[in-house]
Amino acid sequence: MSTTENAIASAEAHSAHTYHPLPVVVATAEGAWMTDVEGRRYLDMLAGYSALNFGHANRRLIDAAKAQLERVTLTSRAFHHDRFAEFCTQLADLCGMEMVLPMNTGAEAVETAVKTARKWGYRVKGVPDGMAKIIVASDNFHGRTTTIISFSTDHEARADFGPYTPGFEIVPYGDLTAMRAAMTENTVAVLLEPIQGEAGVLVPPPGYLPGVRELTRERNVLFIADEIQSGLGRTGKTFACEHEGVVPDMYVLGKALGGGIVPVSAVVSSAAVLGVYRPGEHGSTFGGNPLACAVALEVIAMLRTGEFQQRATELGDHLHQELGLLVGGGAVQTVRGRGLWAGVDIDPGHGTGREISEKLMDRRVLVKDTHGSTIRIAPPLVISKEDLDWGLEQLREVLRG
Ligand SMILES: *Cc1c(COP(=O)(O)O)cnc(C)c1O
Repeated sequence: MSTTENAIASAEAHSAHTYHPLPVVVATAEGAWMTDVEGRRYLDMLAGYSALNFGHANRRLIDAAKAQLERVTLTSRAFHHDRFAEFCTQLADLCGMEMVLPMNTGAEAVETAVKTARKWGYRVKGVPDGMAKIIVASDNFHGRTTTIISFSTDHEARADFGPYTPGFEIVPYGDLTAMRAAMTENTVAVLLEPIQGEAGVLVPPPGYLPGVRELTRERNVLFIADEIQSGLGRTGKTFACEHEGVVPDMYVLGKALGGGIVPVSAVVSSAAVLGVYRPGEHGSTFGGNPLACAVALEVIAMLRTGEFQQRATELGDHLHQELGLLVGGGAVQTVRGRGLWAGVDIDPGHGTGREISEKLMDRRVLVKDTHGSTIRIAPPLVISKEDLDWGLEQLREVLRG
């Protein structure tokens, strides 16, 4: 057996089969490129579901992490540490908000957003105890915990994991009328992805997000934007909500906030909302640790230059122009997305998303399929135009074959 086959067989024998990875075993990576255990190089067109917006082994981020590794990495929140205040101040400022509640993974931040909205509902809005409702959208992806999968509409993500957490109302994504109809006095929040990533990079119809903003404001309901995947540069703006001129009440951030180095997530909101907490009511051993703060501070500083947003805009325009040329040619049905982020629906006659992904892998391009015949393209924002063009050429070749 080859080194690759050995590693895969071993992983299959000793890890729960919660994923179906492409048969490539990565050993090292830099920028937009990964090298496998046999020395083959692959262009990374997934970027860790946007956790790697700044590329693999980004110099600035690695240097920031290394410097912090030598100082102090973990204190727990039992004590203050000297990167914490700076992190919270800077992140709140980047978001145009006032307060931050740091966690680690995206799902934890979503859970935190749910808890915060409920508490705000009882303490501030005056919803009767135990009655709080949160409106979510069909085809959402907000993580994998028991509460979060309770309001998933994805059978695989949900089946066999009940009993489910009550308190959620699911309405079709993009449908304002349905949302308005679902709202009651006990609605405390609307939780949405401004662009649905896992669903296949679904961009809602124009006017939807501003409509949600207006409706939530009218009804004294919090608008929670899960920008874990769409935020921090991917779409060409710091937040995808900006494309529609919308400012939510709460951002949920993760993925790229940790620079592809450590898991860092956060809920960012106003003092009126996050101010509801008292000591002992929520927390995390690792949330807001010094290493996480040091890396995230560098991420924030990089985002402040606007350089990555601009790259995402320029390369994204190019990407969508090129992908647009494939539509109607037989193999590609539709292309969606914004910035350096695209969902490409392949005609099922040309293969499943998985088959296309495998063929691309043979051509040294790594992407991930989602929902049948859709592939998503989201390379690191540091990718060069030449590399992007080369990756697109491989896609054209695969679709031609
Ligand atoms: C990835 C993702 C999450 C979950 O993040 P984890 O770090 O995997 O827990 C939540 N919401 C959205 C929109 C995501 O893309």
